Amino acid sequence: MQQVVVLGAGPAGVGAGLMLAQSGKASVKVLERAQQVGGNSGSFVLEGIHCDFGSHRLHPASEPHILAMIQDAVGPDLLWRPRHGRIRLKGRWIHFPLKPVDLLLRLPKGFTAQLLWDAATKPFRRAPSGEPTFASVLHQGLGPAMSENFYYPYMRKLWALPPEELAVTLATRRVSGSSIGKIVHKILGQVPGFKKPQTGGFFFPKKGFGQICDALRTKAEAHGAEFLLEASVTAIEHADGKVKAVRFRKGETETRVETDKIWSSLPITSLVSFMDPPAPVPVAEAASRIRFRGMILIYLVLEQQQFTEYDAHYFPEYAVPISRLSEPKNYSASTEPNGVTVLCAELPCDPHEPLWSLSDDELGAKLCDWLAGVGLPVTAKVRRTVTRRLGYAYPVYDRNFEGDLAVMDQWVESLEGLLTFGRQGLFAHDNTHHALATAHGAVDCLNADGSFDLAKWRDYRRIFETHVVED
Ligand SMILES: Cc1cc2nc3c(=O)[nH]c(=O)nc-3n(C[C@H](O)[C@H](O)[C@H](O)COP(=O)(O)OP(=O)(O)OC[C@H]3O[C@@H](n4cnc5c(N)ncnc54)[C@H](O)[C@@H]3O)c2cc1C
Repeated sequence: MQQVVVLGAGPAGVGAGLMLAQSGKASVKVLERAQQVGGNSGSFVLEGIHCDFGSHRLHPASEPHILAMIQDAVGPDLLWRPRHGRIRLKGRWIHFPLKPVDLLLRLPKGFTAQLLWDAATKPFRRAPSGEPTFASVLHQGLGPAMSENFYYPYMRKLWALPPEELAVTLATRRVSGSSIGKIVHKILGQVPGFKKPQTGGFFFPKKGFGQICDALRTKAEAHGAEFLLEASVTAIEHADGKVKAVRFRKGETETRVETDKIWSSLPITSLVSFMDPPAPVPVAEAASRIRFRGMILIYLVLEQQQFTEYDAHYFPEYAVPISRLSEPKNYSASTEPNGVTVLCAELPCDPHEPLWSLSDDELGAKLCDWLAGVGLPVTAKVRRTVTRRLGYAYPVYDRNFEGDLAVMDQWVESLEGLLTFGRQGLFAHDNTHHALATAHGAVDCLNADGSFDLAKWRDYRRIFETHVVED
């Protein structure tokens, strides 16, 4: 039987492993650098609490077949939970997802009036002259009040770029309410009577978000898929326009696996850097210009039962360096362990920034200061601070990324047997269910005779481009 070697065991890699093994079209070997599967959607246990790599929820917008696959694998441990968050806007706390009464009562009256004015004057706002950017498109769709007070500062914090430098694609892929009309529609969705049955809720596994990938892996193995952990890919050999082998390091040993099918869910820039012989100069240059945003996750272990009743607090304002604070115990409504809780703060940050080199305790102290500054003082004893650093949290959509991505993408596609997929492989702002959908599409394009239906894959790629991130 033909073999596919899958690189990376985040949701895309694990999902491909399971769906390939189930399809019976190929045997599958999955290579993963970490000690566990899950990638950015994994979990780890801290003081008896299942912690994720930042706030993760399984959104009900998941395609039905993807949701069914997850439900089948996780079983009754997959809980349905109401969303219960707060967003900090103009010094006030507003319920998130937005609720109409809360918006009217809590936002400063002047700001509400500005929002209403922006909505009323939308038909008269002029389209931006010159090449559209993220900033100009949002300004036209939402108006100045929402753009300047919410989206621009939030995006500047997430990507470390002014909104004028961000690509317009971001407004369509990342901002699900890119017009006042859509936002109003979303808010009305909270009103009884207008409410869809699943508005304001999410799925979450009892043992943390990582339980999804763990369960998919268990199923994949039951169907014969092989997972090699702590196996770090170092090279992809190719010749005559075809892939030939992959090399990986496990401990001190480098192993070479001959194969004519490599499906990579690694960051596309890493994939290009592993090519042996090296990728042509224009491709390598394009890869060097593409950027992923990093993130430090700061976990504070507090000696108290619960910090707040909220699952997450959102901080769009630029003055607060973290973008979100979550309390993992609240995601699964867990009361165990008694007398201890963990806070997880998401701090967008790149390795060259001074915050990146601070110790865990220094970051913990800074986090306590930031929280005190927004009226969330940490009063319980901090037992300890732990951090995790993500090198590949978000793809950065600057104004030039599309050209550089196309150069890499076209070259990778030209090599027979090589496929790039998943969030990192397609450089997409995808949710977990989207990453799984890319794996499903790839498996659907593999024919039983070993050929890959490229035309069908291109159709899938056009569908993937319509994915909109849920926060
Ligand atoms: C802060 C944050 C919050 C998020 N919240 C949500 C949410 O609420 N809901 C949601 O659905 N999605 C959320 N996401 C998105 C979700 O994390 C991703 O969509 C998902 O993890 C992408 O899966 P993937 O398999 O494509 O990539 P990844 O999860 O990044 O997996 C890639 C894998 O490749 C491995 N790898 C890398 N290099 C090598 C190498 N050389 N050799 C071997 N293996 C290698 C990595 O270790 C990793 O396991 C969030 C993301 C972030 C950063």
